[in-house]
Amino acid sequence: MEGEFMAEKQGLILVNTGNGKGKTTAALGLAMRAWGQGLKVLVVQFIKGNWKYGELEAARRMGPDFVIRQMGEGFVQHCTENERPNHELAAAEALHTAKEEIAAQKWDMIILDEINYAVKFGLVAVDDVLSLLEEKPAALHVVLTGRDAHPQIVDKADLVTEMKEIKHHHKKGIKAQKGIEF
Ligand code: ATP
Ligand code: MG
Repeated sequence: MEGEFMAEKQGLILVNTGNGKGKTTAALGLAMRAWGQGLKVLVVQFIKGNWKYGELEAARRMGPDFVIRQMGEGFVQHCTENERPNHELAAAEALHTAKEEIAAQKWDMIILDEINYAVKFGLVAVDDVLSLLEEKPAALHVVLTGRDAHPQIVDKADLVTEMKEIKHHHKKGIKAQKGIEF
């Protein structure tokens, strides 16, 4: 690209939030665009679903410059008191991994998938996320996804997009579809 948009490399903080579908898939679209430009992309998933996600197979085929690490424990909203420590441990491990990978300086883009949700449910402290963003290398792009992004994270970000539900097929009883939900 030429002209005024071709600025020097500056790492951005991006947030995909809101109650509509598309937060994770938009981040993966961005990841594909970045990968196609030769950037190295890491996805750290803070909340793991129990589906066989298509993007895991895609990343496997794309090779070492597009890596997805599933760290979370699944959905926490309805977990019992007994299960909660497992979620906390998994989230702490995910955060630790994210910090390590950032410090390793081998990635151009890191996606922290569902980290907003982990903050919302108290599995990750917002201050830890803020310091991670504060300390990131200047050229690294960081994308944070999940509903109900914390206001301090929104404040810190350069680009924030809210997905807004207009319609969702679940509401009329259509189940999750291969290639759309997983
Ligand atoms: P996707 O991974 O499809 O981009 P998302 O990241 O925006 O979705 P999450 O909050 O991570 O959404 O929820 C994951 C799952 O919940 C997805 O399979 C998605 O289809 C479903 N979902 C997302 N938004 C809604 C909604 N408004 N109503 C019902 N189900 C939803
Ligand atoms: Mg998501």
